[in-house]
Amino acid sequence: MPKIHAARRAALAQRLAAIGADAALITDLVNVRYLTGLASSNAAVLLPADGPAVLATDSRYAGTAQRECSDLEIVIERAVESVLTERAVAAGAFTVGFEAQEMTVARHVDLVASAADGLSLVPIGTIIEDLRAVKDESEIELVAAACAITGEAFTAVLDMIRPGVTERQIAVAIERAMVDLGAEAPAFDTIVASGRNGAVPHHVPGQREVRSGDLITIDCGARVGGYHADMTRTVAVGPVSAWQREIYDLVAGAQAAGVAALAVGAVAGDVDAASRDLIADAGHDEHFEHGVGHGVGLQIHEAPWLGPGRAGTLQDRAVVTIEPGIYLPDMGGVRIEDTLVVRAGSGAAAPAEPLTTISRELLVL
Ligand code: ZN
Ligand code: ZN
Repeated sequence: MPKIHAARRAALAQRLAAIGADAALITDLVNVRYLTGLASSNAAVLLPADGPAVLATDSRYAGTAQRECSDLEIVIERAVESVLTERAVAAGAFTVGFEAQEMTVARHVDLVASAADGLSLVPIGTIIEDLRAVKDESEIELVAAACAITGEAFTAVLDMIRPGVTERQIAVAIERAMVDLGAEAPAFDTIVASGRNGAVPHHVPGQREVRSGDLITIDCGARVGGYHADMTRTVAVGPVSAWQREIYDLVAGAQAAGVAALAVGAVAGDVDAASRDLIADAGHDEHFEHGVGHGVGLQIHEAPWLGPGRAGTLQDRAVVTIEPGIYLPDMGGVRIEDTLVVRAGSGAAAPAEPLTTISRELLVL
């Protein structure tokens, strides 16, 4: 594993040199993990544009850091940011990049106050997030493992979904099943939205009991090795009415269209439109208000962002979701979501590979 992290640091160092920074102080804990392999609640990395990186963390993580990051110089210190800033200055780095989207104003004030004269802190933007948008094969394997567990857990709880069981009971059963199957944790709070609650995209599962005639939207995912899975299926309990069948078929068609639009080089906004246009043409424009998808990796929501008008293009080995929905106020809703990996050569002829593989046919329980 250290080799993979070294390759990521090398890619970042190259980009730092390109923006004229002598070094970067990485303080976003997800990015620290991405660059070093260390998962912790207190760590930072100093990465020179030209030279070896230094990892700082506190004594709680000393053993793990020494074991997992044996290729790095490790400094054990609670005040990780100031110790690394001093190191940067001592090493002659005077233009130091920092992560403005993560750094608080208070910490920035402290850093500036403690820094030597002549040190200038420059925001590096989303350089690391952009690197993370292209996965290596080890990352794709972890997302795939998380997706496999998600599908197995979903299948395992279908038996218990019947009139009288609460949304909360279903959500807890799925989360329990994911952990039993080897997930380190659920990737996010499981959504179970039954009946009218299905009209709320991020409904928090409560005490509502499932009734015959409900559609139930279940959005769940497992986390494995820090990597997330994201899958939504909508199932029916008892008889399916005409309006339920109609919006289900529409969403299923829109989901397939979004998946078919995935390709290396595809513009994010065009992928969104491929799916959204079908829903809008059927008169449900205002019933689908979120973006069609997002990247998935060390975070459940990350770059690339697939929403209306988004300009970025998809790259080889991007891992994204496609998740259109229709939400009818006071009636209910449908969402269907897969996590997929985009590969060179994908597109209409050879669609992106779904990592969540549970059937997208309407399951009537
Ligand atoms: Zn989801
Ligand atoms: Zn999602």
